[in-house]
Amino acid sequence: MIPYGRQTIDAEDEAAVLAALRSPFLTQGPRVEAFEAEIAAYVGAKHCVAVANATLGLQLAYAALELGAGEGITSPITFIATASAMEQAGLTPVFADIDPETVNLAPRALDVAIGPQTRLVAPVHFAGLPCDMAAIADIARARGLKIVEDAAHAIGSDYADGGRIGSCRHSDMTVFSFHPVKTMTTGEGGAITTNDPELHARLVALRSHGIVRDPTRMARHDGPWFHEQQTLGLNARMTDLQAALGSSQLRKLDGFVTRRRAIMDAYRAAFADLEWLGLPPDAGAQRVGWHLFAVRLDFAALGRDRTAVMAELAGAGVGSQVHYIPVHTQPWRRRQRRQGPFPHAEAWYDQCLSLPLFPAMTDAEVEQVIAAVRALRP
Ligand SMILES: *Cc1c(COP(=O)(O)O)cnc(C)c1O
Repeated sequence: MIPYGRQTIDAEDEAAVLAALRSPFLTQGPRVEAFEAEIAAYVGAKHCVAVANATLGLQLAYAALELGAGEGITSPITFIATASAMEQAGLTPVFADIDPETVNLAPRALDVAIGPQTRLVAPVHFAGLPCDMAAIADIARARGLKIVEDAAHAIGSDYADGGRIGSCRHSDMTVFSFHPVKTMTTGEGGAITTNDPELHARLVALRSHGIVRDPTRMARHDGPWFHEQQTLGLNARMTDLQAALGSSQLRKLDGFVTRRRAIMDAYRAAFADLEWLGLPPDAGAQRVGWHLFAVRLDFAALGRDRTAVMAELAGAGVGSQVHYIPVHTQPWRRRQRRQGPFPHAEAWYDQCLSLPLFPAMTDAEVEQVIAAVRALRP
């Protein structure tokens, strides 16, 4: 079965991890520091903090803003972590509907959702397609809100108005995930980028027990062994084993993005004539590191439901998945506070299906997916 997404690991990656394993550093060490510098340079940000996963990355980013109690707004079409991490950081998640074309947080819906308790907005670059960050930042800045980008899908993408995602040109911080299904991997892992030295210092402390080791930031300094706990932190560190894999993967990221874009172009051409299949927006010359190939299917026109379609595709060796169950409909969220309806998010959930897209797909596998999808015809 061709899965909807999968990591690409080669001999260079294996050698990098083995070298780290044989080094004196298994936990956070010099390879983490090098990886952070490489990510910062790649995205064009001043600082990068590598973390154990993007869920903790989001939590640390929200906490570093020191917003106290209040609300954070995000999209209902995201992985639950975008919202749960707010709650872990003492904020209440609030949702605003998506733009049905892009499946990203709609600036107008954000504007309407902002209330007296709103402190933060966390836009999600769904499938790797950047949000309209210029519009979101205009709205958020005018209302005094902080901005954390959930870029778990979007490393390697460029904004429509130029600049790489992660450069934080429209935000306070950007969070990446390196889970194996994402565009590049460290096993588990994530990273936060920012241009603000104060946020960077807070993130470094929050990542490791709230401990500060920089003498210039201490109240007192008893000697070379000394450190201070200045806040309540976590152990959210990345290991040198993960960072070794990350540095090796990062060297291949541009190639991954190119291959993902080529597969998207092949799908676009192959499915353009299907009235019952809605394609993602065509980003044209804008560099989009497509993480997911998520389409809309008209199940009524097809005459069968999603379960039947997924079974048919699986019968042809093609895996598929649903991204996402709208977060505001989850039992945990409803227990906190009933929100919605969000008609565009709910309509997306009724129709969406993610089909295989990953750099290691062969041309024959791409053709296999195309044939299986075209064979679904009503
Ligand atoms: C994967 C994902 C996360 C969480 O990433 P982890 O590294 O698995 O913790 C957060 N947000 C979105 C949109 C994701 O896809």
